[in-house]
Amino acid sequence: MSYDPNNIFAKILRGEAPCIRIFEDDQTLVIMDIMPQSEGHVLVLTKEAAAQIFELSEEAAAACMRTARKAALAVKAALEPAGVILAQANGAAAGQTVPHLHVHVIPRRDGQFLAMHAAKPADPAQLEKIAERIKAAWPA
Ligand code: AMP
Repeated sequence: MSYDPNNIFAKILRGEAPCIRIFEDDQTLVIMDIMPQSEGHVLVLTKEAAAQIFELSEEAAAACMRTARKAALAVKAALEPAGVILAQANGAAAGQTVPHLHVHVIPRRDGQFLAMHAAKPADPAQLEKIAERIKAAWPA
C-alpha cells in the first residue's frame, strides 16, 4: 500500500488533528482510541511513514513493540483487566481502516464482548479520565 500522508494518524502526528495523548518518544506516539472496543483501548502509532508492517523498518517495528509492551503494562496496572490483546491489522481484508501503522492495546474483561471495531465514538470526557489513569501507571 503506498503511504497517504493525509491519513488521520499522520495528521495527529503532525499536530494537525487532535488526540488524547498518553505517551510520546522519538519513534512512537500512544493515544486513546476514540471508538474503543473496550474501556482503556489505546493505540501505539509509529512515527515512521509506513502504512503496513511490510514497509516498516526493523528499527521502527522494535520501537513499536517496546512501546506497546509499556502500554500493556500501564493498562494492566491502571485498569486491572483480566487480559490484554495486542493487535495490528495490515490491509482492508485484515480489518485495517487507517492506513498508518499502529498497534491496538485492548483490555479484556471476563464475560464482556468487544464492541464493534471503529464503530461508536466514546464520550471524550470519559476518555480523558481513563487516559489520566493510564498515564499515571506508565512504567519507567
Ligand atoms: P484499524 O482499523 O486497525 O486501522 O484501526 C484504526 C483505529 O483507529 C480504530 O480502532 C478506530 O476506532 C481508531 N480511530 C479512528 N480515528 C481515530 C482518531 N481520530 N483518534 C483516535 N483513534 C481513531
